[in-house]
Amino acid sequence: MSEKNQHDFVIPPGLLPVDGRFGCGPSKVRPEQIDALVARATSVMGTSHRQAPVKNIVGSVREGLVDLFGLPEGWEIILGNGGSTVFWDVATFGLIRERSQHLVFGEFGGKFAEASAAAPHLADPVVVSSEPGTHPELIADPTCDTYAFPHNETSTGVMMTPRRPVGDGLVLVDATSAAGGLAWRPSEADVYYFAPQKCFASDGGLWFAACSPAAIERIRTVKATKRWMPASLDLSIALDNSVANQTYNTPALATLIMFDDQLRWMNENGGLPFAAGRSAESARILYSWAESRPFATPFVRDVAQRSNVVGTIDIEGTDANEICRILRSNGVVDTDSYRKLGRNQLRIGMFPAIEPSDVAQLTRCIDAVVEHLGA
Ligand SMILES: *Cc1c(COP(=O)(O)O)cnc(C)c1O
Repeated sequence: MSEKNQHDFVIPPGLLPVDGRFGCGPSKVRPEQIDALVARATSVMGTSHRQAPVKNIVGSVREGLVDLFGLPEGWEIILGNGGSTVFWDVATFGLIRERSQHLVFGEFGGKFAEASAAAPHLADPVVVSSEPGTHPELIADPTCDTYAFPHNETSTGVMMTPRRPVGDGLVLVDATSAAGGLAWRPSEADVYYFAPQKCFASDGGLWFAACSPAAIERIRTVKATKRWMPASLDLSIALDNSVANQTYNTPALATLIMFDDQLRWMNENGGLPFAAGRSAESARILYSWAESRPFATPFVRDVAQRSNVVGTIDIEGTDANEICRILRSNGVVDTDSYRKLGRNQLRIGMFPAIEPSDVAQLTRCIDAVVEHLGA
């Protein structure tokens, strides 16, 4: 069959989702978030980030996150420019005292481990890894002052509920694809950091970090060692600016406005149980569908480790890339697997903004495309 014919396959309109965006970041932005932006087109957009209109939005985002996560007294929300990838460098300068331990079970956990391994002022990190599709456990180690792992490994669709190791050590959780879509307990982490283009359905380019009192103290004590750190990566500078609802340099205002609207939507509808509940419902729909189809299998075998926010489904007998191509030609986009994982797989974002009913429709679309390709 020619490629053109395959592209020409038209999915029956009754099977299509209302919104065809299933990417894992950037991910679906709710139309109301765009409306929120339009409503501030002249009052906030194009105005100074040192004045009240923008500072109030930063303050609202910081308060909204405290509410959403139920953060205890003494925690602070710190923010800065550069997204989660830059936060790894920030942490390498400003949080790790001497030696870190990293759980590596996919691309993102691995990148932070590489960043701390490359830092000349730190000892070689301890890296604990496991096969893609699983996660390892922390190993209490008195030589490590910091432990780092992702709450959700976006490259493989494995989730790992944050839990402190026995003994001391700051716990740093990469929550980039988890924050707002998975439950966690502040007592089990010190720094819960993320960027807002996944569960918060905003745009990329900023990082946010919920920091415990122990983390704040670590920021101050590492800074006091006079270790060299570039100002743009200096967490103590970011902290001082954040408590004044500012950033060290100019942030993306549109990103903040859309993030603020998403937080309001979550908090007004029941907070994290509401938001995480939507993702859990989408996950139930996706995985039960995959388990009932001969051509589909959830990649993550351990049900407890199967992510509620990023679903990875192995496909047998049909080229997954071809499925993605046809879905895309029908307006259903970004279902592609993480390339470096190298599997015949679909990867589906199930962030809170995505309607569970649209995930159900997506499964019907995949059924139709697979049947068409097999014909
Ligand atoms: C997307 C993602 C990142 C990278 O985020 P950027 O904002 O693009 O730097 C890091 N970690 C995890 C777990 C992610 O899902």
